[in-house]
Amino acid sequence: MSGLDAETLFERIIGGEIPADVVYQDESTFAFRDIRPQARVHVLVVPRKRYRNLGELAAADPGLLADVALAARKVAEIEGILESGYRVVFNTDEDAGQTVFHVHAHVLGGEPLGLFGA
Ligand code: 5GP
Repeated sequence: MSGLDAETLFERIIGGEIPADVVYQDESTFAFRDIRPQARVHVLVVPRKRYRNLGELAAADPGLLADVALAARKVAEIEGILESGYRVVFNTDEDAGQTVFHVHAHVLGGEPLGLFGA
């Protein structure tokens, strides 16, 4: 995936150009299943407005960051994992494995998740 493609991928999904399994959407966020799930539930929550990563989103638009967190909770509710628990991950830049430079929350759960490792 090239850097340029990665920057536009989620905008194309939000715009309906690329099909996705949509779980939830509202006026500021869009949530759909990850194409390569890392857990039984693996949904990406993306703000419709593009910021590069979590830090940029938090600095520029903290209200939108709150919207993303609330959308993640809504996804957990829809997926039936609100009580059992879920993990929210924001990969930031290269060493973390960020490949799409439109900030997104990974919502993971539906099974016991392992501890973080190197
Ligand atoms: P990152 O690595 O940037 O934190 O997360 C990007 C995520 O987007 C990856 O988990 C990857 O599997 C997912 N992804 C990449 N391309 C597509 C796609 O075309 N459709 C969907 N639904 N997910 C994608």
